Amino acid sequence: MSEKRVINLLQLYPRDMNIYGDWGNALVLMRRLQWHGYHVNLLSYNVGDEFPEAVDLIVGGGGQDSGQAKIGDDLLKIGPKLIDLAEDDVPMLMICGLYQQYGHFFKTKDGQVIQGIGLLDIETYGGEERMIGNIVSESDEFGTIVGYENHSGSTVLGAKAQPFGRVIRGAGNNGKDETEGARYRHVIGTYMHGSILPKNPAVADYLIEKAVMRKFGIYHPQVIDDHIAETARETAVTRPR
Ligand code: GLN
Repeated sequence: MSEKRVINLLQLYPRDMNIYGDWGNALVLMRRLQWHGYHVNLLSYNVGDEFPEAVDLIVGGGGQDSGQAKIGDDLLKIGPKLIDLAEDDVPMLMICGLYQQYGHFFKTKDGQVIQGIGLLDIETYGGEERMIGNIVSESDEFGTIVGYENHSGSTVLGAKAQPFGRVIRGAGNNGKDETEGARYRHVIGTYMHGSILPKNPAVADYLIEKAVMRKFGIYHPQVIDDHIAETARETAVTRPR
């Protein structure tokens, strides 16, 4: 029998950046990869750790402003490595706080500037008003995307970032221009917690396909019964904000 192929899935800063169920994204990727026939090596990277040698897929979550400040310097240290991996088409999913820090900077409402790694062409400015609630967006590639947002940072996209979706309900990047999240190569940044992947299997399978194709050059996905995810999506869309 042939050996199962292994995907190295890395969680960035799960100790400090992991709110509103963002850890669920790693669980979904792990379980769907297994259903599609792969072994998963689940790795964590926290402040001060050695960055792992081999990485095929990276996820990171949100955090309080204080958590963001705590990881800030360490993230800048591994930034060049993350940029190289992104340029080499490693897929990544960054939620809220880490989405902001994948950009150029996050200026908090107290005037503190947390430098980002500039992998995404975005800037974020903390404000007085929090943008909280269920959120729905629409994307040509993924269809309807559903999640939950809670941030005071307003993000603006530069020319090199594509929006992840158009806001149908909720605030999204800044409550004004109807964009939500940002994409660059196979990197997705988004404000959607929830966690996002259990309710959006199309996004999970996109990340998986990119990781598998990049590593093995061939991908035969299994058909997964997503009726529970479908029901969760339908319910989430009807929930009040
Ligand atoms: N602290 C950031 C903000 O409020 C990020 C919050 C989060 O990750 N949910 O904008």
